[in-house]
Amino acid sequence: MSARSRVALLGATGSIGASTLDVLARHPERYVLHAVAAASSHAAVADIARRFRPRRIAMADPAAAEALRLTLPGAEVEAGAAAVAALAADPEVDVVVCAMVGAAGLRAAHAAASHGKRVLLANKEALVAGGALVVAAARQSGASLVPVDSEHNAILQCLPPALAATTLPPYVEPPPGVSKLWLTASGGPFRDLPAAALREVTVAQALAHPNWKMGAKITIDSATLMNKGLEVIEAHWLFGLPADRLGVVVHRQSVVHSLVEYVDGSLLAQLGAPDMRTPIACALAWPARIASGVAAPAPTGFGQLDFAPPDLARFPCLRLAFEALAAGGIAPIVLNAANEVAVAAFLAGGLPFPAIADAVNHALQGLPLSSAATLDEIDAVDRDTRDRTRRYLETLR
Ligand code: MG
Repeated sequence: MSARSRVALLGATGSIGASTLDVLARHPERYVLHAVAAASSHAAVADIARRFRPRRIAMADPAAAEALRLTLPGAEVEAGAAAVAALAADPEVDVVVCAMVGAAGLRAAHAAASHGKRVLLANKEALVAGGALVVAAARQSGASLVPVDSEHNAILQCLPPALAATTLPPYVEPPPGVSKLWLTASGGPFRDLPAAALREVTVAQALAHPNWKMGAKITIDSATLMNKGLEVIEAHWLFGLPADRLGVVVHRQSVVHSLVEYVDGSLLAQLGAPDMRTPIACALAWPARIASGVAAPAPTGFGQLDFAPPDLARFPCLRLAFEALAAGGIAPIVLNAANEVAVAAFLAGGLPFPAIADAVNHALQGLPLSSAATLDEIDAVDRDTRDRTRRYLETLR
């Protein structure tokens, strides 16, 4: 019997997947990669399989699974979204890294939370769409949701030490003594652009994030500030604070990754380089610390650190996310689904950048005060919103 933690990495071929593999490879005595899953990048999965020899492999796309079977003769490759979720529930797995993009990762995150895993959550959309379900499942099974998102990981590190060392999120009650959480935002590539100029920005400009190298979807979300809006909702589910005790501050240097405000007037921050291997290593080992391959930045090299309030008029997506969290019910599901469709349309070209916020705003208008209590109900709201948003976007072309 090995004492190593067995890891399932879902979304292995993306940016978080690559950073996770880098950290795991530094600690072969602590972690073994037991299972990998990806959407469709079968060549990249073949490379990972040769290098790490996982026991189980799943591809969400059946055609990609077939291609991988040809590349790796003898390997058993499971196919379909249910197979990906099954990896998260594998009784031999201790740690599930949820690094898929979008609400498509919800079922896998829910499966991991339902089976008592240590869930390293990088897939914020899963919590935005299904936060209540995932948190309830985690509480029932004893699973923990350890944030990989750099802001939430920073908050975890700044929580009361006694709490953070003994109990991992999700917290249903606000942590004792904490009055407010402050998420930092870089502001994205357009933070200094006047509103009128936002209509003219190109896809390439939106993809050129000033501080972080990330996947396309999250990079566009960073440009609209929807990423920060999704993170506000994520923070609500992880840490148990209501919308009015979650703040956003624009910090263009991305050195301070977030702050926790206490009732005694203390403000605690976590600082580090903009490299996801730090929060991944932290989430793997917390409350222990392991090497991540990242050096701490020299305090003498910080230079100036700026903090400013976000401009909700130029970046309405952040306001819409706060409103969706406050409205509750199906509003966050609709917010996320409309955003995913609008971002994909923007990336495909031919859609002005401000149309992303317009599409989300349109989708949220006149919603019924209903909630989605099951995964199937969430899926139905998600699908309906995607259809409505596609039709709306057609009218803009
Ligand atoms: Mg983040």
